[in-house]
Amino acid sequence: MRKQIAAANWKMNLSHHEADSLLDQLLATEYHLSSNQAVIFAVPAIYIPLAVQKLNGKPNIFIAAQNCHQKANGAYTGEIAASMFASVGVHHIILGHSERREYFAESDSELAEKTEAVLAIGSTPIFCCGEPLSIREAGTQNSFVEAQLKNALFQISADQIVKVVIAYEPIWAIGTGKTATSEQAQEIHAYIRSVFAAHYGQNIADQISILYGGSVKASNSKEIFSQPDVDGGLVGGASLIVTEFAAIINALKS
Ligand code: PEP
Repeated sequence: MRKQIAAANWKMNLSHHEADSLLDQLLATEYHLSSNQAVIFAVPAIYIPLAVQKLNGKPNIFIAAQNCHQKANGAYTGEIAASMFASVGVHHIILGHSERREYFAESDSELAEKTEAVLAIGSTPIFCCGEPLSIREAGTQNSFVEAQLKNALFQISADQIVKVVIAYEPIWAIGTGKTATSEQAQEIHAYIRSVFAAHYGQNIADQISILYGGSVKASNSKEIFSQPDVDGGLVGGASLIVTEFAAIINALKS
């Protein structure tokens, strides 16, 4: 069965003290993870040592970076390479979040390079895609998302693409309190899987975890995650609240 994943995207939130306390409280909370489930904490880069110290060695719990540079090293002031994250124990990296596409002008071709860089060192990209409201209103979300996937990922070989986690995040649902209905999520997740199936074959497509992101919370997670092509969630706001995120973890399919 595909990995079922609850991924927390803390974005640029929390003081060091708050981050420390949130991780402690979560670890003290009742959650159950089976072998095909994982929890990932995408913390601000500066808190990675803290997260490593608290979470290292905990079964099925991983730490992620929220971005990386596409080059292995060099004169790129302020940037961090995928291999640098790996060297401190971080093997998952979120790529192409809509906030990075919008505020930092990340393009599909740059994301193709970043994805290759992450895979090249044996780490896992969590590749984000998703349409703005105008595209959803025009009813062209499938072709919009398909283009994002094709432009950034289709140069990757079949044995590498199974290592990529996809996060479908409709921009109109991120941080807005508006969630896609479970039917809307299932419909586009199934479409995304069919796009991978057409290019790589059904067997490969069936192995790719596709997370839903966009105002996931305790109260809607069970219903959304129960959809057959939804393999968990990428969670922003609700991942900063202990009781919410613990309930979201427990809503994963087993
Ligand atoms: C996100 O930004 O990845 C996200 C899904 O945020 P939120 O859960 O707050 O909508």
